[in-house]
Amino acid sequence: MKDIVDAQRAFFSTNQTKNVDFRIEELKTLKRMLQDNEAQLNQAIYADFRKSAFDTYTSELAILYVEIDETIRKVKKWAARKRVPTNLVNFPAKSYVIPEPLGVSLVIGAWNYPYQLSFGPAIAAIAAGNTVVLKPSELPSETSRVIADIVNQNFEPSYFTVVEGGVTVTRELLEQRFDKIFFTGSVPVGRIVYQAAARHLTPVTLELGGKSPAFILDDKKLKMYVKRLVWAKFLNAGQTCIAPDYVLVPHTLKTKFLELVIAEIKNEHFSIENQNYVQIINERNVMRLGKLLEPEKVVYGGKYDVSSRIFEPTVMDHVTFDDKVMHEEIFGPILPVVTFNSLDGIIAEVKKRENPLSCYVFTQSKQLRDKILSEISFGGGAVNDAVMHITNSKLPFGGVGESGIGSYHGEHGFKTFSHNKSILDKPTWLEANLKYYPHNPFKIKLMKQMLGLK
Ligand code: NAD
Repeated sequence: MKDIVDAQRAFFSTNQTKNVDFRIEELKTLKRMLQDNEAQLNQAIYADFRKSAFDTYTSELAILYVEIDETIRKVKKWAARKRVPTNLVNFPAKSYVIPEPLGVSLVIGAWNYPYQLSFGPAIAAIAAGNTVVLKPSELPSETSRVIADIVNQNFEPSYFTVVEGGVTVTRELLEQRFDKIFFTGSVPVGRIVYQAAARHLTPVTLELGGKSPAFILDDKKLKMYVKRLVWAKFLNAGQTCIAPDYVLVPHTLKTKFLELVIAEIKNEHFSIENQNYVQIINERNVMRLGKLLEPEKVVYGGKYDVSSRIFEPTVMDHVTFDDKVMHEEIFGPILPVVTFNSLDGIIAEVKKRENPLSCYVFTQSKQLRDKILSEISFGGGAVNDAVMHITNSKLPFGGVGESGIGSYHGEHGFKTFSHNKSILDKPTWLEANLKYYPHNPFKIKLMKQMLGLK
């Protein structure tokens, strides 16, 4: 590990990555590499957890292609030094900010969208002029192997390399001194990463999880709400960090809501029989999900099979915050429905818990929309939709509190991997005497005027 980091640091010191044209060429190589290997990428992810070519394209590769294209178009602008106004006490002078790469970066990926969550941060790191050590999740083993194969065939290890492995390898990597660590994964491992980074004062971005609520607040467009909600929940068999974890529905709407949810699950073909219905990543997680069920509360689904790792889309009714299913991030195809009579009361319940990564509000009322958006703290979300906000690169993607630190996508990712170097640039033809001895009351008066102070 030390050799890899030393080699990258030596390469970074050559200043080649500071050249924006170099970064653009590397991004083009990355895109070509992904396109040339699409068949292999599709096979690997289907072998790991039966993710279809359609889902792989729409929720992984297309997102990466769009991100690379946008970055190539805009990176010169993002990387350019930016003039800012100069304050009066420094007159005459210019002030500007130079975005500079942080150096050697470590990207640690999660397994649920293994391509998007590995290459997305790597694109931002490259765009900002860093070198990259990428550690994809080991759980989808075929996917991890193909990521390592194609990157290590197409890039110099002193610039961009993939290290495969699990806990031991990650711990070894975290012993090294990096200039930036970008981690996607669970809250407990996020803490380990943060602690390791503190030893070297390495800046971190932590993209974590949490229990993301969805509020249904009227029945004006209920069919549409349910269509969007069901897709977002059961996509990837619920193994999506920004999936609606649970639904909050007024008591009076519950019966109609449940009917529509069940009809929509069938309509969307989220079922055991569908050969493209994604598997749960491993047997341990199937058993974990199984333990969250309370049979008398299951109103749809509930079947699962540990050896084939299939978990039926499941809906639970009469759920309360005391139930097991409400005590941890579900990260699977179980939809608990919690009813309420008082919106203020249910908002208070949500706020007692950690800040979620996402929150969704379905309503035609602008007043209720704004109430949720202003009263609850969460990473990001959507109104009358779910999950799709992730596709807009103009929106910074990240959590707050326990759901994460920092954000990325588009220019936000570039900034995440950059340091803003601030420069005051002064000519030498004039120097006011104000700050020098001898001090006197007139100077103080003048200084106050210049600073706009009384
Ligand atoms: P995880 O934390 O188990 O693993 C993430 C990475 O950390 C993997 O590369 C793994 O090898 C490594 N790791 C695991 N245990 C470790 C340890 N003890 N020490 C050092 N490294 C270790 O997370 P996961 O199961 O891959 O992903 C699920 C979690 O990630 C969920 O909580 C989900 O919400 C979250 N997530 C967040 C986002 C986001 O963008 N915010 C995206 C996807 C997933």
